[in-house]
Amino acid sequence: EAVTMLAGQAGVDVEIVSPEEEEPEEEEEEIDPSRLRTRPPVVTVMGHVDHGKTLLLDAIRQTDIISGEAGGITQHIGAYQVHQNGNVVTFIDTPGHETFTAMRARGAQVTDIVVLVVAADDGVMPQTVEAIDHARAAGVPIVVAVNKVDKPEADPIRVRQQLADQGIQTSEWGGDFEFVDVSAKSGQNLDKLLETILLVAELQELKADPESPARGVAVEAHLDKGRGPVATVLVQRGTLRVGDSLVCGAAHGRVRAMLDEHGQAVEEAPPGRPVQVLGWSSVPAAGDDFRVVEDEKEARRIAQDREARVRAAEQVAAAPAVRLEDVLAQVREGQVAELKIILKADTQGSLEALADALEKLSTEEVRVRMLRRSVGAITASDVDLAQADEAIIIGFNVRPDAIAREVAEREGVDLRLYTVIYRAVDEVRQALSGLLKPEEQEARLGEAQVRATFRVPRLGVVAGCYVTSGTITRGNRIRLVRDGTVVYDGRVASIRRFKDDVREVQEGFECGIGLENYQDIKEGDVLEAYEVREVARSL
Ligand code: GDP
Repeated sequence: EAVTMLAGQAGVDVEIVSPEEEEPEEEEEEIDPSRLRTRPPVVTVMGHVDHGKTLLLDAIRQTDIISGEAGGITQHIGAYQVHQNGNVVTFIDTPGHETFTAMRARGAQVTDIVVLVVAADDGVMPQTVEAIDHARAAGVPIVVAVNKVDKPEADPIRVRQQLADQGIQTSEWGGDFEFVDVSAKSGQNLDKLLETILLVAELQELKADPESPARGVAVEAHLDKGRGPVATVLVQRGTLRVGDSLVCGAAHGRVRAMLDEHGQAVEEAPPGRPVQVLGWSSVPAAGDDFRVVEDEKEARRIAQDREARVRAAEQVAAAPAVRLEDVLAQVREGQVAELKIILKADTQGSLEALADALEKLSTEEVRVRMLRRSVGAITASDVDLAQADEAIIIGFNVRPDAIAREVAEREGVDLRLYTVIYRAVDEVRQALSGLLKPEEQEARLGEAQVRATFRVPRLGVVAGCYVTSGTITRGNRIRLVRDGTVVYDGRVASIRRFKDDVREVQEGFECGIGLENYQDIKEGDVLEAYEVREVARSL
């Protein structure tokens, strides 16, 4: 803001770009239509938890006879390809919207088609609707897989009706969406699902130039004990070859080897092909674009430039905000409650996905702040940081090492381990609810009408009342309402029945009521007794 203002005074234009965008040396090469070739569609499987996404992905890869013959052991590298009648489909091998959204958040549009899995025995659920929203937001066509039709209680028609309510009308009823009834368990109709995907892909006319320098996206990355940083990249155009130099975010490298989903060495990866790449300087981030450059020196230079810019941006972001309006806002609203988190995960993909989901839980009153997020085991340094800054540690598919565990136990650091993203998100949501200030809710206790007023020695003016509803108790908070206007808000000082002081009076009885520090009661006034309760809130 300050720079823009100063520049404005100096008559200079300021253009603000993110570190990722600023890439002066990169020129966009022309696309030559004559060199475009059809490429495989890239499919992401989404849907509600337990509706069978994982099993479906596994079942589909097992249908692939060609890869079965290729031998090798099935590896989960983050994506795989299956063959169907001479055509190829690429599946992103991590179900769930978090990954999809995290990738999109980084500007990576990887998916051509979303397969929406809906269990026929459960129907449309909240995450089904969420998945539809994500696919729509991304403008990606949906193919519906109505799963678990092998179950006796399966009701595929109901699923069609429920989805029609969401604007996803099956083509069988004249709508625009293809539905396939499948069973990931028995394998029923998986070939039909693949055919349907290919049909939808055909309409999209997915094409890429296999001859241009390779570009694409990292879909998964982690640090391998023996092999160093590995990343599965999806080639989107061009052909990636062993020996190519590439940059991916702030990581660079030279392709030492490429492996497919069967652990087999690959020399060349054309568009649509996912391959695991070895030979990185560091672990790239899932969702980062990669591209092949001239040579290793060039790759290193670009990566280092980016690294420096990202560092600088992080330092700016990490600096505490000392803007006056922030301070004022905090004073006005009472200090903002904050849940500090140290997040550790097994892969960049899950790290991004979880961080994204957790940060979304922030509201105006309670904020999630990520003190540290990185790939790898939970170490003593994480525990130290957590203790120093009163943070909790969340581990996703990682464990604390022995020292970290011991220190955490000794210091009472909150260390939570998860293997399912939504569980982690759920628990943090609950923890945040605990930080919310309880809400004040008013409860009406009783009401009385003033029918006469008396002056009583030592007590002052007392209202002769009739209790029209509820109960009025000594000490209650009370409002005096006259012609619809509150003229007094205070407490009940005394209650009398037939000259006796009593603690309370119930509906249908007459009594005398004295108010604390208030004498100006008139006939016709209404007294409302109420109390303010603190109610725990949830996000
Ligand atoms: P995800 O959470 O969507 O990935 O769901 P999973 O793939 O883990 O499946 C959840 C449960 O449903 C597992 O116990 C699966 O064995 C079961 N399941 C998945 N697909 C089918 C199916 O087609 N038929 C039956 N009977 N069970 C299924």
